[in-house]
Amino acid sequence: MADAADVVIVGTGHAGAQCAIALRQRGFEGTVRLLGREPDPPYERPPLSKEYLAGAKPFERILLRPENFWAAKGIDWQGGAEVVGVDPDARTVELASGEELSYGTLVWAAGGEARRLSCPGADLAGVHAIRHRTDTDALRTAIEAGAGRVAVIGGGYIGLEAAAVLRGLGIGVTVFEQEDRLLKRVAGREISDFYAAEHGAQGVDIRLGAEVVALEGEGAVTGVRLASGETVPTDLVIAGIGLVPNIAPLLSAGAVGSGGVDVDENCHTSLDHVYAIGDCALHANRFAGGEVIRLESVQNANDMANTAARAIVDEPVPYDAVPWFWSNQYDLRLQTVGLSNTHDERVLRGDSASRSFSVVYLRNGRVVALDCVNATRDYAQGRRLVEAGTQAPVEALADPEIPLKSLL
Ligand code: NAP
Repeated sequence: MADAADVVIVGTGHAGAQCAIALRQRGFEGTVRLLGREPDPPYERPPLSKEYLAGAKPFERILLRPENFWAAKGIDWQGGAEVVGVDPDARTVELASGEELSYGTLVWAAGGEARRLSCPGADLAGVHAIRHRTDTDALRTAIEAGAGRVAVIGGGYIGLEAAAVLRGLGIGVTVFEQEDRLLKRVAGREISDFYAAEHGAQGVDIRLGAEVVALEGEGAVTGVRLASGETVPTDLVIAGIGLVPNIAPLLSAGAVGSGGVDVDENCHTSLDHVYAIGDCALHANRFAGGEVIRLESVQNANDMANTAARAIVDEPVPYDAVPWFWSNQYDLRLQTVGLSNTHDERVLRGDSASRSFSVVYLRNGRVVALDCVNATRDYAQGRRLVEAGTQAPVEALADPEIPLKSLL
């Protein structure tokens, strides 16, 4: 007879942990099993490329809850438990250890893995990713052993946050981005140019349109070879080139999805009694104009976790949360609300030279997103414009003297 739980949650990131917490907050009295592949209790991932990498916060301070919280709430957390198979008819999951576990309801919150480089030399020693606590630990060990130059491949959040921390530690950093600007996937050109200039001023060598064709070295990496023929010497490589969702067991079990797992407005998959939440869940998002997307963010993880928990306790409220993100680099706090990728107009609000400004994104005259740099008031007030899809005059949006809330 297989071991059993009323709710089995796969994944101990923000999504999985919050789902367990929300079930208890909503009075769910059944058994809850929280399975994590990593040996550590649930912890926050954003500090892995920020304060934890900098050594400014010990691991205990990035735990999502104190270690004894889970047992106190009757949440059966189990580390080192990798789910490799799902049988939706028998309602069981299979662990890598061979162990089987029955579920009443399954919540798939397995997130994703850092995408690996595929060029020659990608498996040399000294090539790092930042996704798990152990990744950042390994990176810190290498830095403490005396790495003086780091090549960051990918100019997204991970790469840029790591670059900022490393400069703070006095390490030479080169960033290689294949696109023609930084943060292209997530922000408009004003933000990209601003961050390129800030990193440049801090001494980061930014290489845009850089095609990395190989990593060089005998055993350990010593250089990054570009399509131009140039080889840039380095002691370490950090690849921050995106995320690959962990969905194979669920798709093998018959769940519908491509590049993610399809979910409905309650985060339910196409399989009976199976929900999917967080980075791996493909959903129709109002703030993306109804497009089916995955959202890789703490906000989405937490909000989807609450949505699934509500559905499980039979108090469903459809998912309709406004997306938000943040990134800390040097003394700059970037706060983003909404999704900018479908915009057709941008408005600069304030002067980027003051290092406190915002970019407002519009689609068909309506505010769809804001990127706010050291401008928390714009972020808080602009959020209401995004939620309401406000139509506002461009001249007013551009004038930092006019509070955004007055445009609602
Ligand atoms: P990301 O946001 O997808 O950015 C990766 C960047 O690397 C993209 O611009 C990508 O360009 C570029 N790239 C891909 N392959 C490359 C190559 N071979 N050479 C050079 N450049 C290459 O991914 P990430 O920064 O690794 O972040 C991973 C996940 O963590 C994301 O979900 C991210 O949102 C999340 N995260 C969030 C935060 C935050 O919210 N503050 C902080 C850290 C991480 P293409 O677009 O052309 O592929």
